[in-house]
Amino acid sequence: MKIAILGAGFTGLTAALKLAQDGHEVTIFEKESIVGGLASGFKIKGWNWYLDKTYHHLFTNDSSAISLASTVNQKLITKRPETAVLVKNQMSAFDSPITLIKFSILPIIDRLRVGVCTFYLKYITSPKYINHHYALIWLTKFMGKNATEMIWNPLFEGKFGAQKHIISLTWFWARIKKRTPSLIYPEGGFQTFAEKVQSEAEKHRVKFNFNSEISNISSLNTKFDKIIVTLPTQVFNKVAKLPIAYQKKLNSIPHLSALNLILVLKKPFFIKETYWLNITDQSFPFLVLAEHTNFMEKKYYNNQHILYIGCYLPENHPYLKMSSKKLLKLFDPYLKKINSSYSSSIITSYLFTHSNAQPIVAPDYKEKIPDFKTPLRNVYLANLDMVYPWDRGVNYAIKLGEDIAKIISKEK
Ligand SMILES: Cc1cc2nc3c(=O)[nH]c(=O)nc-3n(C[C@H](O)[C@H](O)[C@H](O)COP(=O)(O)OP(=O)(O)OC[C@H]3O[C@@H](n4cnc5c(N)ncnc54)[C@H](O)[C@@H]3O)c2cc1C
Repeated sequence: MKIAILGAGFTGLTAALKLAQDGHEVTIFEKESIVGGLASGFKIKGWNWYLDKTYHHLFTNDSSAISLASTVNQKLITKRPETAVLVKNQMSAFDSPITLIKFSILPIIDRLRVGVCTFYLKYITSPKYINHHYALIWLTKFMGKNATEMIWNPLFEGKFGAQKHIISLTWFWARIKKRTPSLIYPEGGFQTFAEKVQSEAEKHRVKFNFNSEISNISSLNTKFDKIIVTLPTQVFNKVAKLPIAYQKKLNSIPHLSALNLILVLKKPFFIKETYWLNITDQSFPFLVLAEHTNFMEKKYYNNQHILYIGCYLPENHPYLKMSSKKLLKLFDPYLKKINSSYSSSIITSYLFTHSNAQPIVAPDYKEKIPDFKTPLRNVYLANLDMVYPWDRGVNYAIKLGEDIAKIISKEK
């Protein structure tokens, strides 16, 4: 069959590789000049490795990603960097039972409740028993008011803003269930990984059309037997003539945009070797600080130190229109609360924003997920809204690409 795939993120790349391996003639259309999508990276003079435009890592149980990496000879590095939380101006490690025991800012009874509930969520194999719960209500009831007020409520507020109350316990469960203390990173960055999948696909004669933004998929109908759309749902809605009821279904899943301001520094930002810091102080205008060079060695980046400042925002938030200079001015007093002298060590900064980056998962999410098959004949949809109960991730994009390829190959 002649198959067109829209989008060269990990979903499109994996689907292309699998379908080409099954003997199909595959053509990819990608609006950017490179593969990788949300997990794409960039490189500047003096760096040996790409840097992801937004912080990325894998977990040690991300089996689809590990298996694809092995297929394309992508080396993976496993490390156990520190994840911490900023509570009441104090940074504390918060990523294991031992760090929970030592988390003395929370009374012992509450630490025990957090431990028991985390164990329970890790233990459940399917979210079907918890699906109907709102996360914050459940957390307040079982982990307790203290832990919820100190940690979870601010983190939910930081990520989901006004929508924090509608987040399903399933979304939280997926985060706890999948998290592993050790993390994996592809040698050379996620861009290198994506390019290796691209090379493997090219060996199977997949054709890549870059700088090819599709604005109307009907133009492809006559040339291809099947079309796989891996674009965000809202973009699919724009490029295809879809029945109103189906459009409504697609639009029923709200999304957040992601903003990452990257600082390239002469000196480390954190005093300790912390990789990831979740911010619970709601006055901060960002949610996460991730010092990438406390995860991967700085020698790959010309001995420069890399700090990501990350937040999620509603689609029309003013920060999304600001320059990196303006944002840094806004973030500066908060960054100084953690490292008062960081600004003298800034070499340069980069700003990346992505719309439709995070679906909002409410308890009725399952009913809203679109099917692979769309109302349009021979047009299929496979995107990050469809990896429920898991949260979006490269591993699930790869699994999704495999799944859609299997479905299409069966339809010969
Ligand atoms: C801030 C942030 C942090 C993340 N952190 C992690 C992490 O630590 N670990 C992890 O595993 N995952 C992480 N993810 C999620 C991960 O990046 C995604 O789940 C995954 O990359 C999605 O791949 P995809 O192929 O489904 O979609 P995408 O990567 O979005 O691919 C879609 C492609 O379609 C292209 N496109 C869009 N419109 C058009 C058009 N009209 N015509 C042609 N092409 C078009 C886009 O350019 C893009 O390349 C993170 C995501 C974000 C936003």
